[in-house]
Amino acid sequence: MSHSIAVIKGDGIGPEIMDATLRVLDALDCGLDYEFIDAGLGALEKHGTLIPQASLDAIEKHGIALKGPLTTPIGKGFSSINVQLRRHFDLYANVRPAISFPGTQSRYDNIDMITVRENTEGAYLADGQEYIDDGNTALSVIKVTRKGSERIVRYAFELAKSNGRKKVTAVHKANIIKTSSGLFLDVAREIAEEYPDIEFQEMIVDNACMQLVMNPHQFDVVVTTNLFGDIMSDLCAGLVGGLGLAPGANIGEKAAIFEAVHGSAPDIEGKKIANPCALLLAAAQMLDHLNMDDKATAIRKGIRDVLENRRDMVTPDMGGTGTTDTFADALVDYVGH
Ligand code: ATP
Ligand code: MG
Repeated sequence: MSHSIAVIKGDGIGPEIMDATLRVLDALDCGLDYEFIDAGLGALEKHGTLIPQASLDAIEKHGIALKGPLTTPIGKGFSSINVQLRRHFDLYANVRPAISFPGTQSRYDNIDMITVRENTEGAYLADGQEYIDDGNTALSVIKVTRKGSERIVRYAFELAKSNGRKKVTAVHKANIIKTSSGLFLDVAREIAEEYPDIEFQEMIVDNACMQLVMNPHQFDVVVTTNLFGDIMSDLCAGLVGGLGLAPGANIGEKAAIFEAVHGSAPDIEGKKIANPCALLLAAAQMLDHLNMDDKATAIRKGIRDVLENRRDMVTPDMGGTGTTDTFADALVDYVGH
């Protein structure tokens, strides 16, 4: 079966790492058709807007987008493109796998976990939903809904189920933030009962951070509210060696957008040293989402193999002596047979 997806090459190093990623997807014969769409600085120059309507329409039509990093110009009243996309498509689940790879500077081996962060409510609200009083007192609101909690916790359990994972840990602060975090925890307990085959664990966020650093192997799928998820998913990226290897997905009912977590890195644009791994791993996440698990596994195995055995083909940020293109060459070679 063939799928069509929208592809945003992105700004800065985006086009370089996207070209590398698409070469690998093509070598895997994934049967994907690409529609290239504009967003970010490129779109601003061409169309006068960061996200043209035609791009939104294309993402809606295909339901899937693979996205390079985008730059939101600082100041000038632009609001973040990622936030705009999240709101437009109600992308409620931010899904960030953290997997150890060889040859990275990380404190642990064999970490394999996924953080599922609620992405539309919690402490991060749109302007106007947040109340700031006067110059002397500022009051922010945390909004947790039953519906929002149900869909994120259910997403985490369904993800666990479809990936053969064994445990879901709900991270909260219900002992102190009794109302909002309490509602999230209550709902998590209810949903957990629908999944008797998957172990359910509750953990208070401060303890969860300590446990992550001391014994990360105990975690499998973690589900949590927006602010805790933001912090914990970066902590997890740090545990497995930093942003160079961190992919993420933003998932809604009607659309899903897969991306590298890092930015557009304008400082190394055009130097051919950008590491394509994070975007490749985002592509693997996309293939999982499209039920092409064997192709996704091939990408992850290939990255593992190249990092371990082909240091000459790996980019300098991972300690190699290769380029973006040689990294892709090595992977194409690996997945091609
Ligand atoms: P943006 O403004 O889009 O966030 P940035 O430069 O802040 O761009 P970051 O991802 O925050 O992007 O990059 C931080 C540092 O990490 C930069 O020095 C950048 O060169 C480096 N970096 C980011 N991504 C990669 C990558 N894929 N390969 C190699 N180096 C990278
Ligand atoms: Mg940055």
